[in-house]
Amino acid sequence: MNSPYMGNFQVTQEYKGSVHDGLDLVGLDSKEIHATVSGIVQYAGWENPNDPSQGFGQYVCIYGQDGYYYYYGHLSQINVSSGNYVNCTDVIGIEGNTGYSFGSHCHYCIRPQFSAGNSLNVSEISGIPNQLGTYNDGYSGSS
Ligand SMILES: [Zn+2]
Repeated sequence: MNSPYMGNFQVTQEYKGSVHDGLDLVGLDSKEIHATVSGIVQYAGWENPNDPSQGFGQYVCIYGQDGYYYYYGHLSQINVSSGNYVNCTDVIGIEGNTGYSFGSHCHYCIRPQFSAGNSLNVSEISGIPNQLGTYNDGYSGSS
């Protein structure tokens, strides 16, 4: 399992294709969001700087070495900038409640392009169960 957390986290909403194109995740041990892939930061900032309540709010998108785009939405803090190279497990931000969000969580989704409309099955790719529950990605402690 390869989640944006190290330690325990919850799945609070499942991947449902076009209805909900990612997994909603809540960190239990830490709110740090870790890169799940190595690659280049495609974008880091507000989805709509004029409306912090819209869409993903503050988010990071990483263009992974596998050619997919990894999105981490609703962050309270961003630690990287567009164009940065990040390694898998680097801390890229902090979970939050920005954008269209009701309660702190991370919308984690994977898309074949840097655009909305298509998504890949994030559960299959990451190994995170597509089922509400509490999980541990196998790391111990925080980092
Ligand atoms: Zn979501």
